[in-house]
Amino acid sequence: MATLTSPVSISLENEKNPWLAAAARFDEAAKRLKLDDGMRKVLGTSSKELTVHIPVQLDDGRIEVFTGYRVQHSVARGPAKGGIRFAPDVTLDEVRALASWMTWKCAVVNIPFGGGKGGVICDPNILSDTELEKLTRRYTAEIIDFIGPERDVPAPDVNTNEKVMAWMMDTYSMHARHTVTAIVTGKPMALGGSRGRPEATGRGCMMVTQRALRLMGKRPEDTSVVIQGFGNVGGMAAKLMSEVGFKIIAIVEYDGAVYNPNGLDIIALQRHRKETGSITGFPGGEDMDKTEAMFLECDVLIPAATENVITSQNAHRVRCKILCEGANGPTTPLADEILAAQKVFVIPDILANAGGVTVSYFEWVQDRQGFFWNEQLVNKRLQEIMDESFDAIVEYAQQHNVNNRIAAYMVALDRVAVAIRLRGIYA
Ligand code: GLU
Repeated sequence: MATLTSPVSISLENEKNPWLAAAARFDEAAKRLKLDDGMRKVLGTSSKELTVHIPVQLDDGRIEVFTGYRVQHSVARGPAKGGIRFAPDVTLDEVRALASWMTWKCAVVNIPFGGGKGGVICDPNILSDTELEKLTRRYTAEIIDFIGPERDVPAPDVNTNEKVMAWMMDTYSMHARHTVTAIVTGKPMALGGSRGRPEATGRGCMMVTQRALRLMGKRPEDTSVVIQGFGNVGGMAAKLMSEVGFKIIAIVEYDGAVYNPNGLDIIALQRHRKETGSITGFPGGEDMDKTEAMFLECDVLIPAATENVITSQNAHRVRCKILCEGANGPTTPLADEILAAQKVFVIPDILANAGGVTVSYFEWVQDRQGFFWNEQLVNKRLQEIMDESFDAIVEYAQQHNVNNRIAAYMVALDRVAVAIRLRGIYA
């Protein structure tokens, strides 16, 4: 099912399908906006979907063929923008959902991009560096006519990083016969990356959390935080938030959790993980069951790992006041209803984690100008965008008597619909 059809019915069996999760929110926002059927069809369907098969000669001489995707959900407001993930469980439905979330995310923060996403079905943990490089380069070559600085601009996502972006940039540039830095964002600084990009998603999470705290009249020093994920998003949010005084009482990872009610020393925990390979056994805290840690009583819970961690099966156990979604799609639609009944203040993913793509936009602008900003300017402009977007969504939610997530979708759908109406349908 490639179109977000209406009505969407979510049940226990399908609640974890990300495309249906995207569809349910889309459906509700479209209904409330009274979008006509034609516009719903346009907004509810990916603009382009590409499947590629990627042969790679492995280190032992065998040839393996991997499958990859790149989906452009919308280019109505500008080039498609969004990450590439490498994971064994990537599906086309997931990439479609993530591409549509990128369209809404870029519209929420009002940057001139559409939405796209890519994925390759592979297990990067069992591939050598050489194999990963070959996979990345051949994947880039297979999607090369699809992408471009004015067309579709990839970035890192789950299991991809600046090293992968450097390979993509080089491959694209070798084909173009000149260096094209603006083809990807999230690159190393030495290759046209932006200052502040590695921190941007975590920093954005912190900024919107601070904004929410202001509404509640609370200070960071009196605020306890539980973070799921200690990678680029969660790790960075933990570090930056502890620096400004938040008490990070637990970090939850795939292999365990660590807890300290007085606040963890995040730098020491990062060092411990580097030395031992795990956050468990950290002398500055106690090990805890990872499921229990997710449901500790806290002021702020930041799921910053994967999709579908808060579902109909566990949402009633969530004991936070603010849920700041660092990951894409961590909460299912059925869980939304439970959280609303519990009066949790949700900062939805398409707002909460938009700091990353916002600084990606800054990177793209700097690459195209060939003129680079200092970190202070990057962070100042990020702050302005996150604050404005947060305020606009919260105000919209109040005015229209909807929750923050539906408000964010409504604002986003409306902005994209305006662009489509102005452009018209070319036929
Ligand atoms: N993968 C990130 C996201 O989901 C960043 C995308 C980008 O910077 O283009 O928002």
